[in-house]
Amino acid sequence: MVSSSVLGFPRIGANREVKKAVEAYWAEKFTADELTKVAADVKRASWTSVKAQGVDFIPSGEFSLYDHVLDHSAAFNVIPKRYVGLGLSPLDVYFAMGRGRQSEVVDVPASEMKKWFDSNYHFVVPEFSDETDFKLNFNKALLEFKEAQAAGVTTRPVVLGPISFLTLGKASKDAKPGFQPISLLPKLLPIYKTLLTDLKQAGAEWVQVDEPILVLDTAAALENEFATAYAELAPVAPKILLTTYFSRLDSNLTFIAKLPVAGLHIDLDRAPAQLDEVISAVKSTPIILSLGVVSGRNIWKTDFAAAIKLGQKAIDALGPDRVIVATSSSLLHTPVTLASETKLTPQQKDWFSFALEKAGEVATIAAVLSGSQDPKVAAALEENNTSIAKRREFESSSDDTVRKRVAAITDDQLERKSPFTTRREIQAKHLKLPKFPTTTIGSFPQTKEIRQARAKLGKGELTEEQYEEFIKKEIGAVVRFQEKIGLDLLVHGEPERNDMVQYFGEQLHGFVFTQNAWVQSYGSRYVRPPIIVSDVSRPGPMTVKWSSYAQSLTSKPMKGMLTGPVTILNWSFPRADVSRELQSKQLALALRDEVVDLEKAGISAIQVDEPAIREGLPLRRSDWDAYLKWAVDSFKLSTAGVTDQLQTHSHFCYSDFDDIFPSIQRLDADVISIEASKADMKLLNTFKHYGYSNQIGPGVYDIHSPRVPGGQEIKDRLKSMLDILPDSLLFVNPDCGLKTRGWKETEASLINLVEGAKWARENY
Ligand code: GLN
Ligand code: ZN
Repeated sequence: MVSSSVLGFPRIGANREVKKAVEAYWAEKFTADELTKVAADVKRASWTSVKAQGVDFIPSGEFSLYDHVLDHSAAFNVIPKRYVGLGLSPLDVYFAMGRGRQSEVVDVPASEMKKWFDSNYHFVVPEFSDETDFKLNFNKALLEFKEAQAAGVTTRPVVLGPISFLTLGKASKDAKPGFQPISLLPKLLPIYKTLLTDLKQAGAEWVQVDEPILVLDTAAALENEFATAYAELAPVAPKILLTTYFSRLDSNLTFIAKLPVAGLHIDLDRAPAQLDEVISAVKSTPIILSLGVVSGRNIWKTDFAAAIKLGQKAIDALGPDRVIVATSSSLLHTPVTLASETKLTPQQKDWFSFALEKAGEVATIAAVLSGSQDPKVAAALEENNTSIAKRREFESSSDDTVRKRVAAITDDQLERKSPFTTRREIQAKHLKLPKFPTTTIGSFPQTKEIRQARAKLGKGELTEEQYEEFIKKEIGAVVRFQEKIGLDLLVHGEPERNDMVQYFGEQLHGFVFTQNAWVQSYGSRYVRPPIIVSDVSRPGPMTVKWSSYAQSLTSKPMKGMLTGPVTILNWSFPRADVSRELQSKQLALALRDEVVDLEKAGISAIQVDEPAIREGLPLRRSDWDAYLKWAVDSFKLSTAGVTDQLQTHSHFCYSDFDDIFPSIQRLDADVISIEASKADMKLLNTFKHYGYSNQIGPGVYDIHSPRVPGGQEIKDRLKSMLDILPDSLLFVNPDCGLKTRGWKETEASLINLVEGAKWARENY
């Protein structure tokens, strides 16, 4: 019999219960017990609802109050010294590591976060050194396995594998030079042994051990580590399902197939072409193959016929008992259930499938492959065929005007009229910014009042005019605030934006929106990605009204604010029927028209945010060049339609640049701002090393935490930046937008920032 499995489930709860409870706990409106209770209810609901879909292997242990990698660090006692001995409860230490903590008695910054492979999920980076003292503080997989059992659900626990855990981490600041986290493997394995032994003793038949790094080129060098680790773990563990996702195994397959594991999971959504290779590699072994045919990364209904074909191929080679039908990855990256959507049209609803529906899909596909005679299965298959056929028919009707415009894009549409040095002089005269210009990344605090006003507009309790008045008032306050504290290049604060992607999607043709399709970005931050369903075009200006209103209130220059094409694409659920490149270029053309309109309306600086350009990088290096070509071209296409005096800005929220540097330079933005406060000066050295020619604003403080940076701290940071970068190129700004911050800390932080810039003007 072919069985079915789900690799992980969203943690938020169908009504965002977990997010709300976590935030209530932070605000001291909830006790730890109340929080635990909400979490337990949501876990139980997930287990029982996935079971009710008929899924055989149900995940446990992957639930998290903040991040699963952070859970793992806390469980294994990988707790940086700065969080130890502060008199905090283990739960508060955990949250302090995730988001920092500041009170009268405690002041610790958050740990570094990184994007989880090529997704928009962020994990908290573990920090290792020779002194790391691994201990099993608690066995989360075991606890949740038992918790599920008590709820009447037998689960397959999920554990992050040892090699991925170490290699996703970094050397802590106090580690010896040259220290490599992977060197800790011999010390770490005994802890995993205990964890897995306990699971086995508790009756777990299988354990899902995630080693996602196996889809990276870098895993090739870790063959010996994998061999050692799994030779040690397999004998004491439940049957191990070695789990990979998001890309293909390529040459790593050769050593993977030799590992003493009972099962191997591969992603056939992202890399269907690897199936033949994998089958032949495992054929002569006892390894059971888990086929990730139901996408954990998108919201499209699975094409059963296509999935069945892949499944049948595996069955023909391995027999039905050695085949599992699975989601391609954890469903963490998909919303909970389509059942919560009441505003999609029946036609649209019929295209999609969210986490719970996907659980049903794996069960149905497995049943069909097992030769089920159940009429319900036959009906589900028939229904799927009809839905897929209807979607295909819809896809065939394209927007010819947009398609032709994309086909006609020329190289000179990608270039500014003059080179940067010329533009710079023209812009200096036009904008009259002081040395070390201060600016922010765009958003100011999205207060409760702002969110309430938007909700009221949605419910019809505010008219369009009343809402506009409200937003204008907000913009006015933000402008006055910036003038008061002395910022140089102002922003309007983005109060009208629910989200930097959704806001644009709502005004473009080609998108649809959900009410409840939240997916986790980091911690308690969830986003609701729009869905691209057809060709994209701009029916009219999207931001001009707000930016020009803001400019009318001040004599200082106002920076227009747009989200870039690649980021809109990466933070939406894209279409699966046409290339990402085509979708990106359609978006770029729409934004190009907006940029031109903003300039016409008197705006003299425009920031086009591309924080997602890097995370969109394919996981395999050999695929990078092709991606970077169209991604950078898209950005250039969106910004190059203006005159030389318009200062273009771009912003990125990440700090690894070395490997894509030429592409950053090729963007040719007049100014780029980057997240830099938590990275050491390595980042700036990269800019220096490559001789970056345009202007740059490395963030001087971390905005992911409510902590206020001290005045001296900012001066020190500027000083070390100026040791590396030419003073003429430096802008002074925070790491990222201030949307999630409160006003109090925003004001205090920005006052210190402005003071830092003044100090720099006097001293450099
Ligand atoms: N302009 C956006 C903001 O300030 C940029 C956010 C981002 O980079 N993620 O909110
Ligand atoms: Zn950012």
